[in-house]
Amino acid sequence: METIKGIPVSPGISIASVALLRSDNLRIHRRFVGKEEVESEIRRFERAARSASRDLDIQIEALGEDLMIAVQILQTHKDMLNDPGLHSDVTNRIRENKFTAAYAASIVLGEYHDRFEQMESEYLSERSHDIRDIERQLLTRILGKRRKPRVFQENVTVVAHNLTPSQTASMAKEMVVGFAIDVGGRTSHTAILARALQVPAVVGLKDISRKVVNGDIMVIDGYTGEVVVNPDKKTLTTYRRKARYSENFFNQLQEEISWPAETIDGYEISLSANIELPEEVATALEWGGKGIGLYRTEFLYDQGFPDEELHLKTYRKAVKALRGRELVIRTLDAGADKFHEEFVGFEEPNPFLGCRSIRLCLQQQDLFRSQLRAALRVSVYGPVKIMLPMISTIEELRSAKAIIEDVRKELVSEGVEMAPRVPVGIMVEVPSIALIIDRVADEVDFFSIGTNDLVQYSLAVDRVNEHVAHLYQPSHPGILRLIKEVILASNRAGIQVSICGEMCSEPAYVLLLMGLGLRHFSLSPIAIPTVKRIIRQVSMKEAVEVADRCLSSEQASESEEYLAERIKKLVPDFY
Ligand code: PEP
Ligand code: MG
Repeated sequence: METIKGIPVSPGISIASVALLRSDNLRIHRRFVGKEEVESEIRRFERAARSASRDLDIQIEALGEDLMIAVQILQTHKDMLNDPGLHSDVTNRIRENKFTAAYAASIVLGEYHDRFEQMESEYLSERSHDIRDIERQLLTRILGKRRKPRVFQENVTVVAHNLTPSQTASMAKEMVVGFAIDVGGRTSHTAILARALQVPAVVGLKDISRKVVNGDIMVIDGYTGEVVVNPDKKTLTTYRRKARYSENFFNQLQEEISWPAETIDGYEISLSANIELPEEVATALEWGGKGIGLYRTEFLYDQGFPDEELHLKTYRKAVKALRGRELVIRTLDAGADKFHEEFVGFEEPNPFLGCRSIRLCLQQQDLFRSQLRAALRVSVYGPVKIMLPMISTIEELRSAKAIIEDVRKELVSEGVEMAPRVPVGIMVEVPSIALIIDRVADEVDFFSIGTNDLVQYSLAVDRVNEHVAHLYQPSHPGILRLIKEVILASNRAGIQVSICGEMCSEPAYVLLLMGLGLRHFSLSPIAIPTVKRIIRQVSMKEAVEVADRCLSSEQASESEEYLAERIKKLVPDFY
């Protein structure tokens, strides 16, 4: 038995034998053709492109409407295959360099691929896999090496170094019950599709495809990212139990999605979602999100500074998809863990404490103003709020608010339509602001507690450093006191307080946070159903007991043990 840890990207448990997918070995040699063969090579390329495009049509047709995300991926491939730019680039290489069709196609697509791969954004660099995929589809046809897609006769866990998007999409209706992939991240196609298919998946497993053979038994835990190869009897029994729970859970999910997240004694907790791309709104709503409590806008800056129109276009997409539900737009939070060294323009010895986030926006006001103009303008299409990250002093808050007001007046003078009022709030994620929260409460419309950073800055523990990960303790009594103070101050001032840190996605902390007084959570879309399940099984009285107990603990380890016991009793099969 071996247990390997990767990145969980689609929840659920699966136990099945391994089907190993090897990638096609398509080594293309530099070959030339004579002048008289140029036209036939061009025809060979065109034929391959037509054939690949036709096959995509068949796959799209077979998928029907129930898996729109797979259809969209295949449709994009089709558009790329039919793109006149690609055709002229390849035919020029054949004509001018006398390359074979295969070599010309691999050179051109290789260049496209490299361009995408170098992009800083994880999302865009993942798109380089689409280019590889198209290359594979073309080359297998040009070289006459096309294989029939694999048909599985029994439930399998697909293990591969990487799956091309079309491979993943073509498996959509097969007997694939899990994915374990060497490479990839949250935004890889396998991840997106696995979630759409509701198939448990773990990616980023490094060399799993070299460690297993066909027929090995594999457990995939899409909640924790653990993958167990050839589990022993005891482990198998534990996972079977967990799988049964998970299966029931997902079967009931469709029904439960519309149910309120209400405790047995009638307290409702609103569950919104955290997103990074407007496309994620659909997933958030599918999982039962009531709106978007945190829209991380950093992705928009991947390709340099977006102009106001790009901001507006992107936000409008999210607002329209929300159809009247609320969107909380967080202004640029670049720096430290969120890439963008080029924003700052100089190297910093300690970027987590450096010129990041709101500090950067106040220093580079053009950047800030174009985002604010778009955020205010989009308010005409649906309810939006503006949220300022990393506020550490009242001066910062006042400066940011003054700029917002100035931008608003500017828009009014230009005759631009906006909602009469766009609420402005802050993330409470720096201890200095949490400690004077009563003084800030009169100056904002809402607070959202960002525990990811609040824990990091309060405990002086880098949130991404695995060497100090054991010191990163969300249930540290100091953190709980800070959270409690923020809630009390908000209640006194009559403003909304929510939490948008990962802490509220974790089952063990749900009762604690409710008991501390939080009624609004914003969390990863896939965590919403589990959190709702927990809320619906408890009373607020219990939650308050849990919170009191943790608040009076001396150390986090005591609370952690207690919370683990408590949650195990609540959802015994889950743990
Ligand atoms: C946080 O700090 O808790 C938070 C939600 O924001 P981010 O993870 O984007 O820093
Ligand atoms: Mg943060």
